Amino acid sequence: MQHMQRPFNPQHMRQQSAQPEARRLTAEDKQKIGDWVASKCTSHDCPVCGQNTWAIGDYLIQNGSYVAGSSKPGRASYPAAMLMCSNCAYLRTFMAAPMGLTD
Ligand SMILES: [Zn+2]
Repeated sequence: MQHMQRPFNPQHMRQQSAQPEARRLTAEDKQKIGDWVASKCTSHDCPVCGQNTWAIGDYLIQNGSYVAGSSKPGRASYPAAMLMCSNCAYLRTFMAAPMGLTD
């Protein structure tokens, strides 16, 4: 019996490789982020509205490297944890690698 090769399906591959739910931060991850920020920051007041109520994002965000002359990001990326001001939605981002949150 001849082995059938699966047809190439980029949509299928994207779904397989992205696995967004698997990347959702755990309570332990969020604790690490909160502890890091608390240990490094001298002020927790929002620089925009002055309030001090922050929510830690459920996922890391990924900033792509700049490529001159292109609107597409380069291959290098910089994963970051995000904190959102619960009042005005201002975002603070912190590199995830020093917190031990990247593979
Ligand atoms: Zn704010």
